[in-house]
Amino acid sequence: MSCAPLASGSSRFDLGVWRGLDDIRDKITVPVGRVLRIASSGSSGTSLRLRVNWLYRPEEAEGGRKSFYGQQELLASDHIDDGIPIASALGCCRVHALQQYMQLRDEGKLTDADFYSRYLYKSDARTFEPEMVPVHCLCELPFNPEKPMSQCSACGEWYHHECLLQQYGPSSLPAATAAAIADPQQQQLQQQHQQLQQHESSWMCPLCSRALHDTQQQQQQQQQQQLEVQSAMGSAVTQHAQQAWPQDLWPAVK
Ligand SMILES: [Zn+2]
Ligand SMILES: [Zn+2]
Repeated sequence: MSCAPLASGSSRFDLGVWRGLDDIRDKITVPVGRVLRIASSGSSGTSLRLRVNWLYRPEEAEGGRKSFYGQQELLASDHIDDGIPIASALGCCRVHALQQYMQLRDEGKLTDADFYSRYLYKSDARTFEPEMVPVHCLCELPFNPEKPMSQCSACGEWYHHECLLQQYGPSSLPAATAAAIADPQQQQLQQQHQQLQQHESSWMCPLCSRALHDTQQQQQQQQQQQLEVQSAMGSAVTQHAQQAWPQDLWPAVK
């Protein structure tokens, strides 16, 4: 989707007129809208006006900004305004699907004018679509591309590193990730850290680690009990045999 950041005159988006893209680079509240149509208006027909479908900042939607929203996340909306002066269009930006945005991020191709959108906000009803979204981790929140996660090789669930740290401490993290977090000055480890977000194949989440540990302990206990039972049975059979057979029939010990 190709979009234009706009400073419109409508009350909701009344942020004044920016002088240019350089001026807005540090201001993350500049409105973003998708230009649906450009039409001429006025008696002479020389004034160009835009029909714009706005994308909302999470702060502007019901419930405000939550921890799973990324800084560059926008909400597609059903809010359309007509008659926006073309002079209020500041330039072009790009709004991607989340997967495409992450691919560009991994390739180092993102700019300040790159955004992503995954939810639709119905501005009048103040509801979201879809109503149900996949959630992950101990925090049971949707994915946030700015928060590093690891996938458990046993259960397949994704966990935020910060949630693992808070709940279970550094030992619960994949080893190289823990090392990179502990010493972020080491660039090599940082690079490993980034790669490991995608290529951890042997890490197990604390819940699966604990389940595996419990299972191994149970197996050890069962094996120990079996050995004890076998040993006791062997001893009983020997005693029984010794009692059943007359002592003089046993081979003489030399
Ligand atoms: Zn979490
Ligand atoms: Zn697991």
